[in-house]
Amino acid sequence: MNSIINIKKLTFRYLDKFVFDKFSLDIEEGSFVTITGPNGSGKSTLLKILTGLVKTEADITICGLELNKENIYDIRKNIGVIFDNLDNTFISETIEDDLAFTLQNLCYTKEEMKDRIEKISTLLGIKNILNSRPNELSGGEKCKVALACAIIHNPKILILDEALSMIDENDKNNILKILKKLNKKGMTIINVVHDLKESYYSERLLVLSDGVIVLDGSPLKVMEYDKILNKLGISIPFEIELSLK
Ligand code: ADP
Repeated sequence: MNSIINIKKLTFRYLDKFVFDKFSLDIEEGSFVTITGPNGSGKSTLLKILTGLVKTEADITICGLELNKENIYDIRKNIGVIFDNLDNTFISETIEDDLAFTLQNLCYTKEEMKDRIEKISTLLGIKNILNSRPNELSGGEKCKVALACAIIHNPKILILDEALSMIDENDKNNILKILKKLNKKGMTIINVVHDLKESYYSERLLVLSDGVIVLDGSPLKVMEYDKILNKLGISIPFEIELSLK
């Protein structure tokens, strides 16, 4: 297995509260992984650690680079992130300006910027809204723009922190299909979710509880452990519950 993220013996605490104690995780390059768990289980902290937003002394390798102060800029170039509050994506007057701003920060030339914006807006079907203002967009469109900003620099890893939780079922499925396409082209995707239906598009589902991976396997296999999931307060999709019965 060629791992793109490798965490060994991660111990992390906020003041006196331990979130992880000797936590290990390996994510295969090109995989599509869903992570779930009750509130407070450590999902956001894990993402913050991977993106260098909180510091640790752990032995973590991302895209072949050791996660440390020297490498964090290069590591961040390999990661795209979408957070749950999609409105935070927008800082410019129009969508096109927002995309350009993301590229400007990464020192792209004007020519390269034009080319990348053309390519990404064609791929995600957002050419028609490039000149729109953020407040004119629907939830699904906002999510597509957030996705465009996250992947416009062609990262190897895309992380979604409950980014699809606020959009309707139809838009959610459309975005998940796009994510699957990106994954088939080689992008590693990590989707943190509450709704286990989102895991149908991934090949691996991890369940976190109190900083420990309690279940890890294919989504259907993991969902067979309905008693454990129910105990953690994680709902199983209705159709899975029916088929288990
Ligand atoms: P999740 O994303 O699964 O809800 P978090 O990573 O946000 O979990 O939280 C893990 C634990 O760390 C929780 O007990 C939470 O209360 C605690 N925690 C999170 N952020 C902070 C912080 N900034 N300061 C202190 N404790 C925190």
